[in-house]
Amino acid sequence: MITTHNLGFPRIGRQRELKFALERYWKKAITEEDLLETAIKLRQLHWQDQAILDWVPAGDFSLYDQVLDTSFLLGNIPARLGTLSGNELDNYFRLARGRAVSDDAACSCVSAGELTKWFDTNYHYIVPEFDKNTQFSLHAAQLLQQIREAQQQHIPVKPVILGPVSYLWLGKCKDAVDKHELLEDLIPVYGQLFKELENAGIKWVQIDEPVLVMELSEEWKYALRKAYYPFQAVPVKLMLTTYFGQLQENLQLACELPVDGLHLDAVMARDEVSKVIDWLPNHKVLSLGVINGRNIWKTDLNATLDWLEPLYALLQNRLWLAPSCSLLHVPIDLDSEQTLTDDVRSWLAFAVQKLQEVKVLATALDHGRESAQDALDENQAALEDRWHSGRVHRAGVKNRLSQIDTAMSRRKSSYHLRTAAQREKIPLPLFPTTTIGSFPQTQAIRETRLAYRTGKLPEEAYQIAMQKEIEYCVHEQEALGLDVLVHGEPERNDMVEYFGEQLTGFALTQNGWVQSYGSRCVKPPILYGDVAHEHAITVQWIQYAQSLTKKPMKGMLTGPVTMLNWSFVRDDQPRSETCKQLALAIRDEVLALEKAGISIIQIDEAAFREGLPLRKSQWQAYLDWAILAFGIAANGVQDSTQIHTHMCYSEFNDIIDAIARMDADVITIETSRSAMELLDAFDQYRYPNELGPGVYDIHSPNIPSIDAIVDLMKKAAQRIPMQRLWVNPDCGLKTRNWEEVKPALKNMIAASRYLATHFKATRVS
Ligand code: GLN
Ligand code: ZN
Repeated sequence: MITTHNLGFPRIGRQRELKFALERYWKKAITEEDLLETAIKLRQLHWQDQAILDWVPAGDFSLYDQVLDTSFLLGNIPARLGTLSGNELDNYFRLARGRAVSDDAACSCVSAGELTKWFDTNYHYIVPEFDKNTQFSLHAAQLLQQIREAQQQHIPVKPVILGPVSYLWLGKCKDAVDKHELLEDLIPVYGQLFKELENAGIKWVQIDEPVLVMELSEEWKYALRKAYYPFQAVPVKLMLTTYFGQLQENLQLACELPVDGLHLDAVMARDEVSKVIDWLPNHKVLSLGVINGRNIWKTDLNATLDWLEPLYALLQNRLWLAPSCSLLHVPIDLDSEQTLTDDVRSWLAFAVQKLQEVKVLATALDHGRESAQDALDENQAALEDRWHSGRVHRAGVKNRLSQIDTAMSRRKSSYHLRTAAQREKIPLPLFPTTTIGSFPQTQAIRETRLAYRTGKLPEEAYQIAMQKEIEYCVHEQEALGLDVLVHGEPERNDMVEYFGEQLTGFALTQNGWVQSYGSRCVKPPILYGDVAHEHAITVQWIQYAQSLTKKPMKGMLTGPVTMLNWSFVRDDQPRSETCKQLALAIRDEVLALEKAGISIIQIDEAAFREGLPLRKSQWQAYLDWAILAFGIAANGVQDSTQIHTHMCYSEFNDIIDAIARMDADVITIETSRSAMELLDAFDQYRYPNELGPGVYDIHSPNIPSIDAIVDLMKKAAQRIPMQRLWVNPDCGLKTRNWEEVKPALKNMIAASRYLATHFKATRVS
């Protein structure tokens, strides 16, 4: 018989129950007991959702983050938490977010652990910290508690833990400590854990080592051997689990490590399966992740069976089936959606539906396809509908795509000629000031949008309400004295969803939430079909805003690469093709804005970096088509139209050349927290166009002082000629309130004026 299992399940809850419980707990509206009660209920429910499988994970649930849980499991708590009051949960949230509850006494706040992206997903984990004093010790009570709960529910439970090598690899050294030396200490703690798990009645343990899909130095490969050799004697069976990519040069190593099973992401690494079978010793189980855990499309079950049947004949009991990775990265249940059209809905599978797919495959393999005929037929019919749907395939879009030539992605003239034309058209002072687009999204704005969306507010009243917001925003910016104004984006719930709603080829969900970090979730739009721009999206708002002021109004758009990277994207054509379609759609909007008299247009590429493949050897291919797509969107304008782009991060060193190739006239980036990184990047590379290094950390309620801004800008001016510098915040202001924004921008403008007189220079191009 084939064995089915799951690697991890979303924990936020169908109605985001965990999110709301956490946020209420932090506000002290509920007690710790209430919070834990919610967690127990969610676990129960989610185990029931998975009970059709032979092995169901435990320990994948987390109140905040599973890597943070691992730090607590291994007793790796930074010293700064040592003497604070409160219990373990207080310290857990302190490390997660700086404070135990929202009004934690000032003396009990600590700096939170760093948040960083989990491989190439949009999930963020809390980075483990190591230093010379780091010691490990086992604290398995939480994990054992989850296991007991599952056992009480008669769930066949398989604990999930992050392996020691990936744990070290994901962490950051705070001093000169050597991670590889820490491994010595760590191995026995895992050994103890396995003993405890055996005592708890556990047979199989899933041990995740996603680093096996990365380019590893010899030292890291050695670390894997060193960690796993002692584990061959442990009293539980280990399923070494990899995901998110191919094993490539690590394949042999992964097959050889002395464990009882290997899980392979057979969506990303299907081509490697036969090689893995060759290398895998006969006593080991091979778990194939055949259902995509990163996307929301139904799997082609018949085609998967065509491929699996001979493998099953070969491997027999040694074959296990699962989703490719944890289902943390997809929404929970398609049944929570009421507004999707029937066709689109029939093409989709969320977490619950994906597990049903695993089950259907297993049934068909064990008992023949006839035994699952209804499910297979239904699956086939849905796929055929999708393949041939007129809503997916649009001849006009494909035709236009075939006519793209690379000249379309380039500006007519070089930056130097353009900048002269732009300065003539839009004279600006030295160190011009602007913002990144959004202004505070007040409760009133959100309520107005909701009322409009739910049909309670008629179109006309909505338009008037939004115009009022724009008026207020323009008025405030004029009063402050900003040089390039924005309309404030009150009509946008989210920078990607908003454009997704307006373009053809996207579907939006009501509850398709995916955890981004802690209690924060995102709801990626579903990009199912050829993308077309059928009507202007932003022009009326921007034009209205421009009519209120003589200052230049910047038109704000989301770029094609960010639209792609923050959506669930169709899997029936290469991502690069889909991105080019998005690029043409955004190009139409750019040209519509230009035609409407808007001379400055910002195309946000907040998620440009996120699309980088895990392996550096694959970066160039991605960057080539991503730059092409941005260029198609942005570069069809006249010389005198100024294109801005914005990216909210400061790691630029490794892609600065690519960013320069995008050839935006102005790029604004996040820098206020990491002046040093900015300096590194621009020391080594002469960025040719204009730059706005962020000087106001919008993630913090703090108001930056004039001096701090001046300092940062002076540092920038040592690397970039001051004629090419802008002054702006790190990112949009929508999460802040006006009481913070006004004084911060006031200081920003004062700093700019000071700098302009200080440098006593005139603008030259
Ligand atoms: N224009 C967007 C805003 O200001 C940019 C957001 C982002 O970069 N994440 O909100
Ligand atoms: Zn940003």
